[in-house]
Amino acid sequence: MRLPEPESGEWFDRPDPTGLTETGERGLRFSCTMCGACCTGPSGFVLFTDDEADAMAAAMGVSRDEFLTRYTRETVLGRSLAEKPSPFGQDCVFLDRDRVPGRAVCGLYEARPEQCRTWPFWKSNLRTRRNWEQAAARCPGMNKGPLTDPETVRLTRDRLDI
Ligand code: SF4
Repeated sequence: MRLPEPESGEWFDRPDPTGLTETGERGLRFSCTMCGACCTGPSGFVLFTDDEADAMAAAMGVSRDEFLTRYTRETVLGRSLAEKPSPFGQDCVFLDRDRVPGRAVCGLYEARPEQCRTWPFWKSNLRTRRNWEQAAARCPGMNKGPLTDPETVRLTRDRLDI
């Protein structure tokens, strides 16, 4: 007899965690649609480490000092990527709405910081299924695309305290 798999107790580790499927699958689906919604809106924070600043500066072909001066700003939470106004709100300074028609792409995708890489598997989105669905109402890529298994969701979530 096959024993049921142990459950972690976390909502996304249960069968059909979003209630959107009938397959009994565990975990969460996400596929970026390049809408840019997570990189714009009300003024916010894109925080980064020193190593990430170096990687972003290298991607932009500037020194770290020049990078910090030109592309970042001081906030109550620390140094953040700067913003630029757009019809959608405050865009991240690196959000590029011109390169691909109808899409918003990251201008330094390969060097983007952990905060961007780990979206949408943030603690704030994963606390409850309700938190997840609230974020999904703003991000059309959530609950679609490839399935991320619960352990990977957990590991990604625990990379940052956001
Ligand atoms: S660095 Fe790239 S992925 Fe991160 S907020 Fe800016 S545009 Fe979006």
